[in-house]
Amino acid sequence: MNFLCVDDSATLRKIVSMSLTQIGHTVSEAENGKLALQALAVQKPDCIILDINMPEMGGIEFLEERAKTPAWKSIPVIVLTTQDEEPLRAKAMGLGANGFLAKPFQKEQLQATIKQIVGA
Ligand SMILES: [Mg+2]
Repeated sequence: MNFLCVDDSATLRKIVSMSLTQIGHTVSEAENGKLALQALAVQKPDCIILDINMPEMGGIEFLEERAKTPAWKSIPVIVLTTQDEEPLRAKAMGLGANGFLAKPFQKEQLQATIKQIVGA
């Protein structure tokens, strides 16, 4: 499957990318929500891995923008953030996120969450 990893940390993007390519997926990257929207205009990933705290456009704003476009609403989103707080989780889920995972994470946790949400 094709994933889009949206995170302002190059290190985090690398870790996610390695965790997913290892099990046969392809991963493209975006540094913030704004660049992720630009990426979505030209490619449709099977799943988005989304950070919350990012410059330019954070994860919540990205989810709000995604919700406005029917073609994007169907793409599953897994939020991956250091802010493991229930209000944030509820807000992200309310905006259509499908999964929520706290950083730091184990590769196996990410793989299991993906399997649960996109079945691969
Ligand atoms: Mg961040």
